[in-house]
Amino acid sequence: MDPALQRIVQALGPDAQLAVVGGTVRDRLLGREGGDWDLATALLPEAVMDRAQAAGVRAIPTGLKHGTVTLMEAGRTFEVTTFRGDGAYLDGRRPESVTLGVTLEQDLARRDFTINAMALPAEAVERTDWPAFLVDPHGGRRDLEAGLIRAVGDPLLRFGEDGLRCLRACRFQAQLGFRIDPATLAAIPRRLEVAGKVAVERVFVELTKLLRGTEPERGLAALAGTGLLDLWLAELRPMIGCLQNRHHRYPVWDHVLEVVRCAPAEADLRWAALLHDAGKPAARTVDAKGETHFYGHEAISVAMTQTILARLRASHALIRQVTALVRHHGTHPGPDWSDAACRRFLKQLREDDLPLERWARFRLADQSGKGFGAEPHRAAHEALVARLEALAAQRPPLAIQALALDGRALMDLARRPGGPWLGQLQQFLMEAVLEDPARNQPGPLGELASGWLKRT
Ligand code: ATP
Ligand code: MG
Repeated sequence: MDPALQRIVQALGPDAQLAVVGGTVRDRLLGREGGDWDLATALLPEAVMDRAQAAGVRAIPTGLKHGTVTLMEAGRTFEVTTFRGDGAYLDGRRPESVTLGVTLEQDLARRDFTINAMALPAEAVERTDWPAFLVDPHGGRRDLEAGLIRAVGDPLLRFGEDGLRCLRACRFQAQLGFRIDPATLAAIPRRLEVAGKVAVERVFVELTKLLRGTEPERGLAALAGTGLLDLWLAELRPMIGCLQNRHHRYPVWDHVLEVVRCAPAEADLRWAALLHDAGKPAARTVDAKGETHFYGHEAISVAMTQTILARLRASHALIRQVTALVRHHGTHPGPDWSDAACRRFLKQLREDDLPLERWARFRLADQSGKGFGAEPHRAAHEALVARLEALAAQRPPLAIQALALDGRALMDLARRPGGPWLGQLQQFLMEAVLEDPARNQPGPLGELASGWLKRT
């Protein structure tokens, strides 16, 4: 048996009825091991603390009120929660009270979906025939095999208790590629008011998990179809059905879903995929020839991205990175661009702290989402990225700080104290070295500076 788990089983004793529960069982049946373990026990949290400590297992009282103790053993984390029943839900978010010391079956009955409402006694974990020992009163295994997300009990009731469950249904659909059972799906639009009460921090966590799923486009389609989208991302609705031009096969929203799908499953890229064209409906124009344009949509998307992510209390680091991806998604340094123009672009990425690699990954996803797949774009994309990488590898000066003459040297040269002229001169020199990085040496730069000083 897993030695860490073995120690915990021994420490807590046979009357603990220790069982692996919830997502841990689900993931094990799916063959996705790893991550922290969720365990449930008949013992009260104080007893878990006492017995673990007596046996020399590190125990942290993480949530005594809710019955949770965290045990650390062999560098791993085990969350041990007392079998628990939830009291009445009055605010649509959390139960007013929890009752500890109920049965395992009652504990499973409070869980959200059948696939999350199974338990496996700890003693059975290491047996080769462990699935035979599953405690599965709600048919979770059957639903898991059928790829179904189904509420435990009456979905209208369950979604009425806790609005987060509506969003979790869509998240699991995206994460596991499952379908939501029709009755469960039909309950979501009828419980939007409760879903609207969920704390934004929790919403953000779930939305990010949804976006990072294996089939995020289905989770997003479910958000749009049920009306959940309008609770937290209402500004995105106008993208649905917004028609584009000959460069695109899809309307904006369908393109967005495709870009989300094509982007690597990382938070910054997936959020950028969702938000990058949010400004298109507002920027849409049709010219005299009947051609559709979205001039300036990037700037609108940038503003919307900041508003939306700040509202969802995303971290500053994520907001910064996603905003930078959105801001630069419409720039395509083509073969006709000069090296100097490419360097100017590298300078912009640098100023936004956006690594070239991130920009490039996002760009390929965006191109792939136009409806013709990645292949027609790949060769040109790779050539473009290779060129930018080669230019970046020459480490050209991309900031005033990298100029071969600093502010002090320029003041000495001009025999003038600092002032607005200095910034203007530095801009001029920056432009000059972007044109030709070879100029970035004290001699040539000094000559350029002297010429500029004489002229102005
Ligand atoms: P993840 O893989 O993201 O951890 P999870 O299903 O394990 O998914 P957790 O938040 O870790 O999600 O919750 C652990 C278990 O607690 C769930 O599997 C489920 O049984 C139960 N649970 C979590 N959130 C709720 C909820 N809002 N309502 C009812 N049961 C819940
Ligand atoms: Mg979990």
